[in-house]
Amino acid sequence: MSTQTPSQNSSSCAARTQFPLHRQVPDARGFFGPFGGSFIPPELQTQMDEIDRGYQRICRSYDFIHELRSIRKHFQGRPTPVYYCKNLSNKIDGARIYLKREDLNHSGAHKLNHCMGEALLAKYLGKKKLIAETGAGQHGVALATAGAYFGIPVEIHMGEVDIAKEHPNVVRMKILGAEVVPVSAGLRTLKEAVDSAFQAYLKDPISSLYCIGSVVGPHPFPLMVREFQRVVGIEAREQFMEMTGELPDNVVACVGGGSNAMGIFAGFLDDPVELHGVEPLGRGTKLGDHAASLTYGTEGTMHGFHSIMLADAQGNPAPVYSVASGLDYPSTGPEQAYLKTIGRTIVGTASDDEAIDAFFCLSRLEGIIPALESAHAVAYAIKLAKERPTQDILINLSGRGDKDIDFVMDKYSSYADKKY
Ligand SMILES: *Cc1c(COP(=O)(O)O)cnc(C)c1O
Repeated sequence: MSTQTPSQNSSSCAARTQFPLHRQVPDARGFFGPFGGSFIPPELQTQMDEIDRGYQRICRSYDFIHELRSIRKHFQGRPTPVYYCKNLSNKIDGARIYLKREDLNHSGAHKLNHCMGEALLAKYLGKKKLIAETGAGQHGVALATAGAYFGIPVEIHMGEVDIAKEHPNVVRMKILGAEVVPVSAGLRTLKEAVDSAFQAYLKDPISSLYCIGSVVGPHPFPLMVREFQRVVGIEAREQFMEMTGELPDNVVACVGGGSNAMGIFAGFLDDPVELHGVEPLGRGTKLGDHAASLTYGTEGTMHGFHSIMLADAQGNPAPVYSVASGLDYPSTGPEQAYLKTIGRTIVGTASDDEAIDAFFCLSRLEGIIPALESAHAVAYAIKLAKERPTQDILINLSGRGDKDIDFVMDKYSSYADKKY
């Protein structure tokens, strides 16, 4: 039998009083090391400070936590399962591949996790309207869903070019009761939609809440969205342990803004688990042909926060491209930049072609059609599985691919004849 005096035990006490990594960052001003912060006009800063104070107060209240947990279970259908891909794993004859099924979260992707959190916060703050921009329409649909649930009006700003391209999502938003505001300025896509949504918000910041769609933007959004997405990692860790008795060796997620990756990573940050973020390599490595900001980018400031970004010669956000419109963003969340810089995450890529191949592979072998965004994580995991035959890989399957089927069959029909 061994007994220890408090002083003999002091080193483990010190270790225990160290916060887990997700509570060490960000600091009070929203910095993750050199990244993050808030770089916005003073009138907007006043509003962000108020949202921050409101969030810090409300997120610890029993009522808020209780209501959010009830929504997760009864409305969203959580916990989403962890699923072992037996056919795919056998076919690769490498690592065992598992999926965290965010495609089965209500509305078909992880985005509803933070939209329900943001809308609940709006309710507690007494806000009467939710405002956001959307590119491909995924964030718009998730926020419209949340607005319908809470009975809070939703205003979604969307470029006219995107409205024409993403017709089904525009229809969904309208059915759910959201107002879609067409934006006709400039190139009529996401950037102009952001400007338009910010202007609308600034006209009425007291009674509306601006809802950002990923772990990006000024403080406190990267923190808040991560906290609302963390449910994915908390569930996945428990479920994986219960299924296998161990932790996975690898966790893999696609990275656009970085919210689904932060959600699952946050559950494993303090574990001996390798965390892999997968960026879209698009058509190739030339600037303009991809959206792999952590892989090819440099430090810079855009959309109100400091991170790693793809910039042109003048230092402005560079044009980016990916077959998956949800990954098509010239920067990424500050915590993703931080975790890569301190060596906690590994950042890899998957090209358009690899993602399309993985899209069909998962559909054929497992009966699961992944979102094109999620297919990037699957493609990378398949490569990793071949290199690490004795290991386990847990993929965050961020969404389902129904939204992508017409595009894929139109542009990539040759894959449909391939044997998997
Ligand atoms: C929007 C979206 C993404 C990318 O956003 P993150 O913030 O990087 O998670 C990934 N997968 C799906 C299904 C999406 O809709």
